This record gives sequence, C-alpha cells and structure tokens, in this order.
Amino acid sequence: MIPIAKPLVGPEEAEAASRVVLSGWLTQGPQVEAFEEEFAALVGADFACAVANCTVALHLALLALEVGPGDEVITVSHSFIATANAVLQCGATPVFVDIEKNGFNIDPALIGKAITARAKAILCVHQMGMPCDMAAIMRLARRKGLPVIEDAACAIGSEIRIDGAWAPIGQPQGDIVCFSFHPRKVITVGDGGMLTTRRGEWDAMFRLWRQHGMSVSDRARHGSAEVVLETYPVPGFNYRMTDIQAAIGREQLKRLPGIISKRRRRAETYRAALSRIEGVTPPSEPDWALSNWQSYCVSLAPEIDQRSVMQHMLDKGIATRRGIMCAHMELAYAGQRQRHSLRRSETARDHSIILPLYPQMTETDQLTVIEALGEAISAALSASRRLPPPAVRGPLEQQMSGSAANWRPAQH
Ligand SMILES: *Cc1c(COP(=O)(O)O)cnc(C)c1O
Repeated sequence: MIPIAKPLVGPEEAEAASRVVLSGWLTQGPQVEAFEEEFAALVGADFACAVANCTVALHLALLALEVGPGDEVITVSHSFIATANAVLQCGATPVFVDIEKNGFNIDPALIGKAITARAKAILCVHQMGMPCDMAAIMRLARRKGLPVIEDAACAIGSEIRIDGAWAPIGQPQGDIVCFSFHPRKVITVGDGGMLTTRRGEWDAMFRLWRQHGMSVSDRARHGSAEVVLETYPVPGFNYRMTDIQAAIGREQLKRLPGIISKRRRRAETYRAALSRIEGVTPPSEPDWALSNWQSYCVSLAPEIDQRSVMQHMLDKGIATRRGIMCAHMELAYAGQRQRHSLRRSETARDHSIILPLYPQMTETDQLTVIEALGEAISAALSASRRLPPPAVRGPLEQQMSGSAANWRPAQH
C-alpha cells in the first residue's frame, strides 16, 4: 500500500522524547523554550511561541487582533475547517471569498469587494504549502488598514520572494503566522502549533493566554531563589505544548532541510510526468514562490469522475484524497448565507485529487502512482465518452452543498 503521507520520524525523536520523560519535567519548560528559539531562527521571526496545535494558534492570533462578536474576518472556505472554526470560536463571522483561477489560494482580487465596515482582519492560507500572493494581499491590507494572519499550518519550509528577496514563510509578511505540527504536515510532534510575529507585546499575550493567563511561567517560578506569587491579569486557556512534543520538534527541525529537498524532487518528477497525461493539470508554482509540497494536488478535466479515479488508485493499493474541503459545503456552515460566489473553491474540491508524496517515497513508488493515475484517467475519460452528460444535482444535494444554490448578492 502506498499511503497519502508518512511522517519522517526515527530513533532520534524517540530518544529525545524518552530523555524528557526521564528528566522529570514533562510539560512546557526548557525544551519548549529551546524549540521556540530554534524555530524563530529558522524562519527569521523575531518571536515564536509554541502552543498545543495550529487551531488554538489561530484562535490566539485572532484574539490578539481583538476579533470578537460582530466582527468579520475575510478568509477562504477552501481550507481545512479549522481555519473557519477559529473565527467562529471568537464569536466572529468568516466571510468566504473564492480562490484563484490557477491555484488553490485566496484570490487577492476578490478580497476588496468582501471588506465591509465590520471587517476586522484578513486570514489567508498558504494552502498545501504554496505561499499566497502576499505582495498583493499586503498592498490591499495596508490600503484598507486591516491586519493579516497567515495560516501556515502546511507551509513550514516554504519560501516567498518579496521585493526581490527570498524569505521563509514564518518571517511575517502579515502580522501573525500560525503553524501546525500535526502528522499530516511536513514536520510533526504528534500535535503542536507555533505563532510567529514581530510584535513583542503580542508574543507576551500569547504566553499569558496559553498558560491560564498566569503572570509567571512554571519554569521562572521553579528557578527562582525567592518565593514568587503569580497573578492572573487576564482570563486565559490551557494551550500549552509539552516538553515531550518540543523535544521531538527540535529533532524534526534538524531533518527539515532534507525533507524539503526530497519533497521538491518528488514534486518535480510528478510535474514532468503528469504534464504528459491528458486530462490532468499539475499544480503551478509562481516564480515568486517555492512550495514545500505538503500536498501535491492535481486538477482533473471536468468530464473526469473524481471518485472513480480515486477508486481505481485504491484498487491498485494507492491512497489518494479528494481536493481540499470547503467549509461552506459542510453541515457545520449550512446556516451561513454566502455573499460571494465560491464556484472555483467547489470545483477545486470536486475536480482535483491529492497524490501520495512523502520523503521516504521511492522512485518505484512514484512510478507506480504515475502509471496507475494514467490508467485511471484514461478509463475515466473513455467512460465519460460513453455516458450521457451528468444529471443536474438533486434538490437535497443542492441544498446541502454549494454556494450555487445558496448564493445571494451581498446586502449591507
Ligand atoms: C491542519 C490545518 C489546520 C489545523 O492544524 P492543527 O494543528 O491540526 O490544529 C489549520 N489550517 C490548515 C490550513 C490546516 O491544513
């Protein structure tokens, strides 16, 4: 079986975790501090604060920007649902705009029209590791006076060229950047997240919030020769990362350059081979972006049945996934009226598939995938030529999904 992804972890991570367990200091402590310093240095950020996962990182980022009830946050529906959920968690409303014509990221040209008097922030997603067009987004954001959060859950190790110079994702182009260390991402600690920013006062708030709003860290109190009585200046959360996770993360950071170069090599092999298969379009990388290829998502011609291609691959022992989900097509968001067309987001979900890609993948594995995809596509293409055009969607399906059915012009 060729899986969709496989974390690259080994004895180094296991031993690092074991050392922490035996040290007697298990939760947020010296390992978290060291992981933060190494992470900040790697991405070129002034401040990095580790938390339990990327979803809570997004929550804290929104809180730092004072996003609250009644506010709107401009973002994409075409993302893992955590992006939109973090906005809801603040009591605010995610305003979904569509993705670009030739990519899977927010279309900067559509953001302006989505900004109302209630807009409080822009939350863009470097989807599947591909950097957003930050130059265009920041031009608009500055003009409108809106702060920008970058959801970089998938984008550790990706790079972007801004004003002629390359910068790692994480050196904030916007205001706050949020990362994930879930096993489906490029490096993992089991579950974990990181916030980077260049504003020291926000970083201080992240540190308070993640630890119950407590004024003194456990480590500072523990290390003090004098009695320290903590205070609780703000209500907080328990969003800590443990030292066990951070120790694993430090080993993962050492592997990152090797992981990225292998992923890029695999992506290049896919691109070269897939550009020769009719009906499939490989993802495009703008000349100002270098993806880490967290996911390799190919677009299918409209007449190709996504599910049959995925089934064909599965029958050959190859796992695939459909394109990135759309929050607005899920029941969780069915009550929200969509103001803007999300047609490209919906098309991306239903007419693209994600192929296996991980650093341990062999050349043979990759050839197997390419060959199976070629067969699956030609089978799907000939099936589409035999069949009458697909029926229109049933009324229930139309209701449940799709801004096409729900879409109304904005009223404000
Ligand atoms: C995975 C992911 C998240 C959530 O990350 P967790 O660490 O699992 O909370 C958020 N946004 C995007 C775009 C993601 O892919």
